[in-house]
Amino acid sequence: MFVEEGFPITVEGRREISKGILLTATADTPAKAEMQNFTHHNGFFGCSFCLNAGHNVSTEIKKTPKNPGDPKKSKQPKKKGSVHVYPPGKFPQRTKGETLADAAAAFKSGHPV
Ligand SMILES: [Zn+2]
Repeated sequence: MFVEEGFPITVEGRREISKGILLTATADTPAKAEMQNFTHHNGFFGCSFCLNAGHNVSTEIKKTPKNPGDPKKSKQPKKKGSVHVYPPGKFPQRTKGETLADAAAAFKSGHPV
């Protein structure tokens, strides 16, 4: 919208229409994904360079109860969770054409592709 139609601003009393295009930016990984409407780094195919799907790895900590006969002492807190990892290997690189097509599809759908 801002690129095509612009937005009104007032400069020294004159009403102008200004248009803006972001040419470069610095952001952390989550913000970069949001700015690009791209899958986050912890999602499948979240690498912006290649088509490595990655996979989830559980980080759940299972502790062995010290006193299995004592119900009060056998309740150990469990920490659940997972992380998404991208194992090393050779994966197809994203091409400029595919990236532009994915960007157009994401823009049209309003969702990461
Ligand atoms: Zn990659």
